[in-house]
Amino acid sequence: MLELNIQRFAVPFRRTSKTKKRMRRTHLKKEVGAIDKCSKCGAVIRPHRACTKCGNYKNKEVIKIKEEEKVA
Ligand SMILES: [Zn+2]
Repeated sequence: MLELNIQRFAVPFRRTSKTKKRMRRTHLKKEVGAIDKCSKCGAVIRPHRACTKCGNYKNKEVIKIKEEEKVA
């Protein structure tokens, strides 16, 4: 015969309230990664990386960026 024993695992005694559920989930949020600003053009860049808009890093031009790309 097929044995049906439902009480083999932990069963919550009470339903979790909306407040308790929301309190628990306050820790479950996406974190914004590290964000910095280019010292030359002010564009939002990632730290320790050359600016993708003007190609500057520590006030020096390290990458040549085409004029067409600068406009766009
Ligand atoms: Zn820049």
